[in-house]
Amino acid sequence: MLFKFFRPDMAFCDVYTISPEALSELSVKGVVFDIDNTVAPYEVERPTDEMKNYFANLRDAGIKMAFVSNNQGARVTAFNEGLGLFYVCKAGKPSPKGIRKCIAHFGLSPDEVLAVGDQIFTDCLAAHRAGIRFAIVKPIQPVESKFFKIKRFFERPFVKKLDWRGKQ
Ligand SMILES: [Mg+2]
Repeated sequence: MLFKFFRPDMAFCDVYTISPEALSELSVKGVVFDIDNTVAPYEVERPTDEMKNYFANLRDAGIKMAFVSNNQGARVTAFNEGLGLFYVCKAGKPSPKGIRKCIAHFGLSPDEVLAVGDQIFTDCLAAHRAGIRFAIVKPIQPVESKFFKIKRFFERPFVKKLDWRGKQ
């Protein structure tokens, strides 16, 4: 039972694979994105054109979107500038609070909202505690600090044998 909390409901190679069509298949009307290593590397301050197009595409399809990040306000606001999404910074994931705020802001029911992130012990846990589905993506930067390597080691049993969608 506890295992389920740490187990992503689905896996995508990158956010771009989470297309409007894929979301429609899943009956998802709102998406809560993690930022760091999910939609952009840590040191990339602003979204690329590819990223902007991706968000515009989802928006045109009627998908509601928000950011929930454990990072500082300045990082989140700078990244969100020009995108204008609803956001929660310093979210303290695995706390479900930030995600719950987004669900309320969207005005959707939890089963219509999907969380997307790169980490099990923060993103996945926060999503499941908030009662929504979680899609894991491969971290954008594979080379990480020792701390992250240890974390990834402990994540391994939960990401085992996931069916990864998208290009490997
Ligand atoms: Mg992250």
